[in-house]
Amino acid sequence: MLLLPHNLYFHIPFCAQKCNYCAFYSHACKKPDWDKYLNEILGEIEFWHKKIGQIEIPTIFFGGGTPSLMPENILEKIISAIGEKFSITPDCEISLESNPGTIDENKLSDFKSMGINRLSVGIQSLDDETLKFLGRIHNANQAIDLLNNAKKLGFNVSADFMYGLPNQSVTDVKNFCKKINELGLNHCSMYELSIEPNTPFYRMNLQMPDNETMAQMYESIDKTLDLPRYEVSNYATPGFECKHNQNIWDGEPYIGFGRGAAGRPFINGTWYEQIGNNEKFEPISARERDVEKIITGMRTTRGVKITDDIDKILNAEFIKSNPDLLVIENDRIKTTKKGLLILDEILLDLIEL
Ligand code: SF4
Repeated sequence: MLLLPHNLYFHIPFCAQKCNYCAFYSHACKKPDWDKYLNEILGEIEFWHKKIGQIEIPTIFFGGGTPSLMPENILEKIISAIGEKFSITPDCEISLESNPGTIDENKLSDFKSMGINRLSVGIQSLDDETLKFLGRIHNANQAIDLLNNAKKLGFNVSADFMYGLPNQSVTDVKNFCKKINELGLNHCSMYELSIEPNTPFYRMNLQMPDNETMAQMYESIDKTLDLPRYEVSNYATPGFECKHNQNIWDGEPYIGFGRGAAGRPFINGTWYEQIGNNEKFEPISARERDVEKIITGMRTTRGVKITDDIDKILNAEFIKSNPDLLVIENDRIKTTKKGLLILDEILLDLIEL
């Protein structure tokens, strides 16, 4: 049996309170039943160990929700179960998403000693009024303290920020980027605020920037941030990209653990669409998987490697007639800066269905 390495994603769906814009699968919960959740996760680890064997694990990602709410003993048990059932590579990237106000220096240090080596901090804004408006539980100083503590402890640190807020101008976004530059990060993600159904923001009739302004904001981020962009929303010093996400965008196999977590395991030569350990587990064709690979890979600046199978899916005529949107370099197809702004439209023509 061919056993490829698999990346692991663990979904921790609890938050201290729900943010006003959030449509992620997460619940505001003062006292989550951690033992119950741990047992579910341990059951899933056992399930996948039996199904797929002692695979190598190049990356592990704890996402949420707010994984930094996890008590130390719960995280420790999950990591040791992964180590027992699978083979964690020596240079495995182990990331954990965190929110300021949910983790102090002691807990952070404990997480570090358990093997977490990359901390992603949800900050969103560096302005206290805006943080309140977004429904965040922390202020800007708490966020900066968490970044500094994490750096001091030797984590690879990333931060998430949000732009395109109601009444925000392009100049505001530029000034925001200048403040982000002062934080001295090696990685950050910049997400455009989108108003999702079933959120408090959806019911508030907010005055959002128009599409043209959003596009100008996006360009000004590219120009103002000190870090180069390596994916639609992600910026990093070369060498500090998130390995977990890179692997998934490149089309490598991964398994999702925890309620609602999705994966794409590869077992005995077949790709599967997976959610949890029994919510969904269905084979998908190699072609479907290649289409997914093109969709995620084209979001990255390194693009997609043109293998024979990928070549069969790409619309050669469309590529040839749109050199301002798409380029081919060293057997890889990529979008130009202009192409990236209309990526969704390009994908419709690029992929032969
Ligand atoms: S902390 Fe993150 S997952 Fe939790 S409610 Fe806020 S945005 Fe959603």
